[in-house]
Amino acid sequence: MEFGKIVKVSGPLVIAEGIPEAKMYNVVQVSQHRLMGEIIEIKGNRSSIQVYEETDGIGVGEPVYTTKMPLSVELGPGLLGNIFDGILRPLDILKTLSGNYIKRGIQVPALDRTKKWNVTVSVQSGDNIQGGDIIAEVEETSLICHKILLSPYLSGKVEKVFSGNLSVADTLLKIKTKDNNIIDIPLFHLWAVRNPRPVKGKLTPTQPLVTGQRVIDTLFPVAKGGTACIPGPFGSGKTVCQHQIAKWADAEVIIYCACGERGNEVTDLLIEFPKLKDPKTGKPLMERTIIIANTSNMPVAAREASVYTAVTLAEYYRDMGYSVALMADSTSRWAEAMREISGRLEEMPGEEGYPAYLSYRIAEFYERSGKVQCLGSSEREGTLTVIGAVSPPGGDLSDPVVQSTLRVTKVFWGLEDKLAYRRHFPAINWLNSYSLYTESVLKFMKENVSTDWAIIRTEAMRLLQEESELEEIARLVGMDTLSPQDRLILESARSIREDFLHQSAFDGVDAYTTLKKQYLILKIIIRFYEFSKSALTEGRSLDKIMGLPVRQDIVRAKYIPEKDISSLVELEKKLGEQFV
Ligand code: ADP
Repeated sequence: MEFGKIVKVSGPLVIAEGIPEAKMYNVVQVSQHRLMGEIIEIKGNRSSIQVYEETDGIGVGEPVYTTKMPLSVELGPGLLGNIFDGILRPLDILKTLSGNYIKRGIQVPALDRTKKWNVTVSVQSGDNIQGGDIIAEVEETSLICHKILLSPYLSGKVEKVFSGNLSVADTLLKIKTKDNNIIDIPLFHLWAVRNPRPVKGKLTPTQPLVTGQRVIDTLFPVAKGGTACIPGPFGSGKTVCQHQIAKWADAEVIIYCACGERGNEVTDLLIEFPKLKDPKTGKPLMERTIIIANTSNMPVAAREASVYTAVTLAEYYRDMGYSVALMADSTSRWAEAMREISGRLEEMPGEEGYPAYLSYRIAEFYERSGKVQCLGSSEREGTLTVIGAVSPPGGDLSDPVVQSTLRVTKVFWGLEDKLAYRRHFPAINWLNSYSLYTESVLKFMKENVSTDWAIIRTEAMRLLQEESELEEIARLVGMDTLSPQDRLILESARSIREDFLHQSAFDGVDAYTTLKKQYLILKIIIRFYEFSKSALTEGRSLDKIMGLPVRQDIVRAKYIPEKDISSLVELEKKLGEQFV
């Protein structure tokens, strides 16, 4: 018998017997509808299969066909600018084939076979090539040159080269492997999504991923190749924060994985993103972006797979030598998909019903980030930054998904509903958030922003910390008991919060601030504090100091366009004159 038979159907989980050559994580096709599924457990002759499509109407006795392949995606030109589902089916093609609701069993290749690419081959007959080598280049979009890589599994001697206008499935090279087999190499290769793509070595991340978000870049920076986690309750601004980073971060390629978010939120993304312009070039942002959209009403197993698909695409562009940022929104929905499948497998539940391997899976996902030396004979470095939103129920940080994520990520941007209610956005709590990259990016900041960047940052953090202690005292014994010096600290911390940390994602100028401007604004606030402190000791009244016209300049500083940044330099220089 060349196929197995279904013995049980339980939602997205199907159990089948007698699948020929059944192997863990191999893809199978379920029933005559040929629904795509993956073997996730084998007990004797029985395999449990998670099915990536709805299983309604599928019954016992129906066939299960084997494909002898793990869940793999096609990696080649034509990925950028597209919107895919969790198993890399292009949503626009699915829509033309089946309308607004995806019919079952549709198989569409990720890469368009009809499109021709103008290929420039980088190797010649007789060359010995190895896995990860750049074998050709095509202009994938006007922003990104796609470097076609030889699959990490292959190596050999180039026998023949084809160039000119080729489609992804055309033969680009013929190579002779060391077993003397001649094989055809097309413009793409397959990669099993659950396997991290190999690299020559990992390097320490030292450059910040500049997001233009002041609270992030100045207080809690993430390095290129690092990991960050944004936990927060519903409505605290996780999605806006992720969108801001996707829009503005100085990564060359953006992969946005909307896994399990509600359809309407993803709709916002799908409507908004294609309209956005790349801030550096003015070209459409989608020319360097890939969106994976697997909404909450799409099959749960495909959601489980979607983060692996997304991280595989991100690794692929990293391997070309690009800096890539991957946004996953939200990893809680991904973990819930894991919980659902695990429950149906009747596995022993861990905390809150999540599978016992939850932490392991989360760690495995984030560990695919990094600054790396890419595979292949040429020297290239690539970075993959992973930023995951977590939405714990009620914003409870003791939630197992948050805790497992915090164990592996090095930056924590803790969003707080209290701040969001006060409309302080981004609602990142400055007291409990942290970044373990502050030291690693210090050299970059000193060289590219200012030598006293760290001093200004530390002083700002100190004032914010003191504010919270003083507020506590004021609550107990009353504001009147505070000395003018203490009240100055409160005023200065308020200025840091309102004039620096608060940043509107919807204001043309305020949405993005360069590192230089971030530094200047904060420096002016800190200098104002220092001058005020001396003025107080000289007997000036705090109210008079706070009434100085320069206060208005500080309030307006963040709205000064980048081209007029010299006025901030002037302001900083002349600040002292106001105190004479
Ligand atoms: P979550 O994803 O955590 O549920 P959202 O990201 O959808 O929350 O944010 C909820 C609302 O908060 C947004 O619709 C927006 O009005 C507001 N908001 C969040 N961040 C910002 C920001 N940086 N600037 C202005 N408004 C914001």
